[in-house]
Amino acid sequence: MTESQVIKVSEAAAKSTLTDAQKAAEMRAIAKEDPEGFWSGIAQRLDWSKPFSQVKDVSFDADNLRINWFQDGELNACVNCLDRHLPERADDIAIIWEGDEPDDDKKITYAEALEETCRMANVLKARGVKKGDRVVIYMPMIPEAAYAMLACARIGAVHSVVFGGFSPDALASRIEDCGATAVITADEGVRGGKTVPLKTNVDKALGKTNGVRLVLTVERTGANVSMQAGRDLFWFGEARNDVSPECPAEPMNAEDTLFILYTSGSTGKPKGVLHTTGGYLTYVAYTHEMVFDYKPGEIYWCTADVGWVTGHSYIVYGPLANGATTLMFEGVPTYPDASRFWKVIDKHKVNIFYTAPTAIRALMRERDEHVTATTRASLRLLGTVGEPINPEAWLWYYNVVGDARCPIVDTWWQTETGGVLISPLPGATDLKPGSATLPLPGVFPAIVDANGKTLEGACEGNLILTGSWPGQMRTVYGDHQRFIDTYFKTYPGSYFTGDGARRDEDGYYWITGRVDDVINVSGHRMGTAEVESALVSHPKVAEAAVVGYPHDIKGQGIYAYVTLMEGEEADAGLEKELSDHVRSEIGPIAKPDLLHFTPALPKTRSGKIMRRILRKIAENEFSSLGDTSTLADPGVVDTLIEGRKNR
Ligand code: ATP
Ligand code: MG
Repeated sequence: MTESQVIKVSEAAAKSTLTDAQKAAEMRAIAKEDPEGFWSGIAQRLDWSKPFSQVKDVSFDADNLRINWFQDGELNACVNCLDRHLPERADDIAIIWEGDEPDDDKKITYAEALEETCRMANVLKARGVKKGDRVVIYMPMIPEAAYAMLACARIGAVHSVVFGGFSPDALASRIEDCGATAVITADEGVRGGKTVPLKTNVDKALGKTNGVRLVLTVERTGANVSMQAGRDLFWFGEARNDVSPECPAEPMNAEDTLFILYTSGSTGKPKGVLHTTGGYLTYVAYTHEMVFDYKPGEIYWCTADVGWVTGHSYIVYGPLANGATTLMFEGVPTYPDASRFWKVIDKHKVNIFYTAPTAIRALMRERDEHVTATTRASLRLLGTVGEPINPEAWLWYYNVVGDARCPIVDTWWQTETGGVLISPLPGATDLKPGSATLPLPGVFPAIVDANGKTLEGACEGNLILTGSWPGQMRTVYGDHQRFIDTYFKTYPGSYFTGDGARRDEDGYYWITGRVDDVINVSGHRMGTAEVESALVSHPKVAEAAVVGYPHDIKGQGIYAYVTLMEGEEADAGLEKELSDHVRSEIGPIAKPDLLHFTPALPKTRSGKIMRRILRKIAENEFSSLGDTSTLADPGVVDTLIEGRKNR
């Protein structure tokens, strides 16, 4: 990144209402001086049925690992998300549901959400699901997915949501890994005008695993699906109306498990990330308000799927714990056409919009008229998460979508962290396109070199966290040793994120990509994100993914996979043009040694570029691609291998 590309946009932040810089600085100071007092105060935003007497008991020592927050307190997550809002907000909208078709939507009040959730909880209970049991949720983006999560939380069952785009095999391995006894699904899902055979997939998955005694099926399309007597139950047609609309909530210990969620699988076999109740809920409620500057009455929309942690923390638990109105979208950004997001924003007067770089880059590839034909007048804040956002895409999001008046919060976090750790606070933080900026109050990152030495000031290295925060994961389900080995062994006494980062002279963090992806060219360490951003800043390039490959002279060479904008042609002239462009943006050292034009890149089902597969292909290691079960479109791999062989 050349300095000229670092654009400060404090003017934009100043124009919005928002948190002020002084308050943020005060919070940071308090969190540093008195972390226990700080977090104890934050936790008061929840309703505790039994107050905690100890804020935390934490040790990051790998031989004596302990992560406990608010340990002797009791609360119920569902009560905190629903019941407690009823006295003031029974008729306020909890969920705006926007269906796959643009004329299909509905609004659900807090009172209605509570009733549906209690009914679902009663159905689970009647079929023997109890505290501690695992329930897999394999659902489309319909309100019943949220009820299912909250119903589990209400009775103390542990949910594990599996993204509805996963195959029967992937579903089976997750059911097996967490030992689920119940599955909640739908007859079919509907996405982008197509149906997804969810119940049939469940049936196939259950042919490969034992232990599931109940399959509760929500009728989304009314399709004819096979039902196994004694095991399967329809929600509307059978179960819902036979149970009471009220259900007492199970008091949960703060450290009781709330859910298990498998990571996206960008780097390897998915991990069953386990989160507990008190710390997680405190942290997501706190960060949802701080990062999105949420004010009562505002319409908030996160476009993630509930199958990912972003959907857990920032569609369901965070917003509902704050009594917010959360929009849930069943469809895809390009159906019926590429203006869908912007039309939905106008239709429901969305104030805060949170999406992923992959969606931004895809929509940027289309004509701007898809955006400019809408007003987006209600918008005041934009957010992004999931991958480093290239400054080029950031600026498009800012200028075209946000009309240069909405700040962007680039939020860095992980399934493991439960909630956002590094992000601008709107109004309090000057923005730089491509930087996640500063840690939130109460979060303490550091950058270390390969030997674990803490680097000071402006530097680049590996990103760690030196202390705990309440939303931190507690273990890898069923494999505590993997938890210790993965996160606490590399840099003793700290949590290792697996990500690389650069810190600039203003203390701003720039995530450079995963540490495993760092390329070493003639002794120079280079993050993939920087080279990719340089490529994407060329007007003909839509997306780029960069990996290292063995090179006789340099040790590692730079291999760049590039997809082009609609209508652009790949040829030798463009190859040279792109190489020269990178050379002038970053320097000769970053010039790609091999450029591979491809119609598409391999992505996880959450839309992230899977560089580990690209690395293998670049190395000509076609037979050892590793776990590809989390790929959205496995066909892409064959095209890439063909392209590689032709080099
Ligand atoms: P797995 O852990 O199974 O390989 P994953 O890391 O993709 O999958 P997630 O927990 O969904 O699973 O993603 C977290 C990772 O996404 C982070 O570690 C980081 O690499 C990347 N990431 C998320 N948000 C940002 C951001 N704002 N900027 C840069 N990178 C981000
Ligand atoms: Mg990860």
